This record gives sequence, structure tokens and C-alpha cells, in this order.
Amino acid sequence: MFDPILLKRVKLPRSETLGVYQANGGYQALEKALRDYKPEELIDLVKRSKLRGRGGAGFPTGLKWSFMPKEEMPKVLCVNTDEGEPGTFKDRVLVECDPHQIIEGAIITAYAVGASRIYVYIRGEFFLGFKRWNKAISDAYEHHYLGRNILGSSFSVDMTVHRGAGAYICGEETAMIESLSGFRGEPRIKPPFPTERGFWQQPTLVHNVETLANIPHIVNHGAEWYSTIGTEKSTGPKIFCVSGHVYQRGVYEAPLGITLRELIEDYAGGVPGSHRIKAVIPGGASTPFLTGEQLDVRMDFESLPAAGSALGTGAVIVMNERTCMVDVVRRATRFFGHESCGKCTPCRVGSQRALDILEHVEAGHGKPGDLDNLQSLCDGIAGRTLCPFGEALVAPIRSGLRLFNDEFEQHIRDGYCAVKENPQHSVLIA
Ligand code: SF4
Repeated sequence: MFDPILLKRVKLPRSETLGVYQANGGYQALEKALRDYKPEELIDLVKRSKLRGRGGAGFPTGLKWSFMPKEEMPKVLCVNTDEGEPGTFKDRVLVECDPHQIIEGAIITAYAVGASRIYVYIRGEFFLGFKRWNKAISDAYEHHYLGRNILGSSFSVDMTVHRGAGAYICGEETAMIESLSGFRGEPRIKPPFPTERGFWQQPTLVHNVETLANIPHIVNHGAEWYSTIGTEKSTGPKIFCVSGHVYQRGVYEAPLGITLRELIEDYAGGVPGSHRIKAVIPGGASTPFLTGEQLDVRMDFESLPAAGSALGTGAVIVMNERTCMVDVVRRATRFFGHESCGKCTPCRVGSQRALDILEHVEAGHGKPGDLDNLQSLCDGIAGRTLCPFGEALVAPIRSGLRLFNDEFEQHIRDGYCAVKENPQHSVLIA
């Protein structure tokens, strides 16, 4: 089993407190960064570590930092804690159990890119996380890790928390910036990218919580150490959330490149009742399904796309042979249809039309031609929307039709679900 790096402290009593964090090596990386590194050297360090964003897109972190303008001007760092992807609960654990690790990573990042403000955007439903963020930030101010002339250096930065209202789309960086700026949480057209014009038109860097949690470890142990973890192109540890039909659902830290089989069998204890795995969602509900025959795929940024899916947030949802895939696709589509911000027509209308068809098919009222209509709806949505939500919406539908077409056909042909003859009704996606 992998010795955790990011989750090392989360099981300690009072792990969320500053005292426990300091007693376990906390804030040493910040001292080292301010003492030994110039901002451009930190950018180079993170580039050499080959760290990639953990929020879903997997963009190289050091490269993103280098897009921030070098001139002296107001710059902003946003910490994205708007975790809402079905099946994903890793950021919540980090925020509730080890918030100082993220704060330390955020301060080092702000120093590297010259940001003077850090805004945390947290999902409205995370009540405990909001409380923990505020307490940790206030303690960090008291100990001069935040505020004016941090630890006696010339660097100053302020940090505040803003609560969202529970909209999934506000996890998308431009929608989050809009919401943070006081506007309706809808995505903006890119370019300009946030690193050029973001929060109130200021250059803005947006990072996921887990990405920032990696930074202190890279500063403490070096880029070479970090890049030996994982694979050549997908370096470092990754927090995976495993849920669905497994013995032990939970968050597990493993090196990128671990196989899906190892994650399910060794970490999550396997599938109860000796059932066969029918399908797995490997990276949250917006990533295409894999089948039970693809368990040897490596969980990294290269192998999963080659297998027809994506790493996404690393949220693995396991479904056994008793799962009705028409039901799963309908539930995922209902979720995305509900969360569409409505700004563009293909997403707003297309999601509802797709849901209508899926509800009919699942209820046994499907007609010949429904699946062709579903396919053509997906073709009219993917690549024709303002933000990546359109791709997310069609991913479960397209991959469901591709991999489990016989189940859809059976519903239409027989007017009932053959899988639910012996039901173990899954509640995988609300
Ligand atoms: Fe909004 Fe959907 Fe268009 Fe994204 S794709 S902007 S979520 S309507």
C-alpha cells in the first residue's frame, strides 16, 4: 500500500488545527519558499515536478503559473472548493481534515505568481468545511502566515472565504469567477482566459484544492523526488474517491498510474457478494463508462483517454452486474439537465430532450428510433456549447449507448428491464 502524502495527517486527532499541522512539519515549506526561492524559481520548480491540475482538466500547473503577467499589478488566486461532481468527495476531506495544508500551498502559489489576494470559493452545502476554512485562516493570520510581511519577508497576501449557493456549474473556473464577482454564476467565453482577465478584470489563477495541497511537498522534497512518484507524464500522488458496489467506500491516496483493479480490489476491498463488475465510471459522472473487462487500465492522464474515458476528478463509481445501465444514464442526464445554467440552447434544451427520451425508454415506453434520436441529440450538443458542460452531459449517454446498447434495445423491444427482474436497485447518482 502507498504511504500517504496528502492524506498523511487526516486521521490524527484534531488534524484540522494549526498545532497539529505545525507539529507534523506544517508551514516549513512556506518558510523555505520565502527564504530560498525567488518567485520565478518556484515556477520552474513546479514545472519540473510535472504536477498537473487535479480538478479534472489535468493542465500542467507550472505552465499555468507562467501565464500570469510578470508586471506589478493586482493579481488574484482563487481556491476552487466548489466540489460538486457526482462521486467526488476528496476536496471535502482535505478541507475538513487538513485545511492548513491547502492554505500553505495557496500562500506559496500566491508568492510565486505575485497575487495579493486569495479567494476561497466553497460550495454552499459544505457547512463544516466553511467553518474549518474560516478558523484555519484566522489562525494563520494570528501566526503571521497571512497578512502583511509574512514571516518577516516583504511578501503580503490576504485570504477570505466566499460561499457559493450549490450550483454545479460554479465549479467551472469562469462561472466561479462570475459568481465571486457578484454576478450570476454562468461561464464566460474564453479567451480572454482568467490569467489575463478574471476576477474584476484582474489576472486570476484558479486552482483546485488537491492541486494546491501538493505544493508544500514539492517545495519540501524537490521536483525530482515528486516526479519519481506516478508515471513519467502523470506524476505525483492522487486522491481517489471509490464508491458504489465495493466493500469499503472512501478516499484513497495512491500514485497516479495505479490500475483500476488494484484500486477496487486492494484499496476498496473488492465487490461484495462475488458479483461481476459490469461498469465503472473512473473520474466522476462526466467521464465515459469503462466495462468490467477494462480493470487493468492505469489511472492516469494518458491511459484512461486511450481506453475511451478520462481521469476527471478521480471519482471511481463501481457498478455490479445487477445495475440497470439505462437507469444510470437517465440519472446522470437528470443531474446534468438540472445543473445546466441555461445560457446556451444545445445544453439547456438538449439535456431536457435527452432526459425525456431516456425516461420513456426506462419506463418501457421507448420506440424504435429513440436511440438514433438520442445519438443525434448528443451530436448536436457536444462541441456546440459555451463551456465543457456540454461534453460532460453527453459522456454518459454516448458511452452508455456504445458499451451497453443491448440493454437499451432490450428495454425498447420488451417494454421492461431484464436486469431489474432480480433488482438490486442502485442509488449511485442522485
Ligand atoms: Fe451553461 Fe450548459 Fe452552456 Fe455551459 S454548456 S454555458 S452549463 S448552458
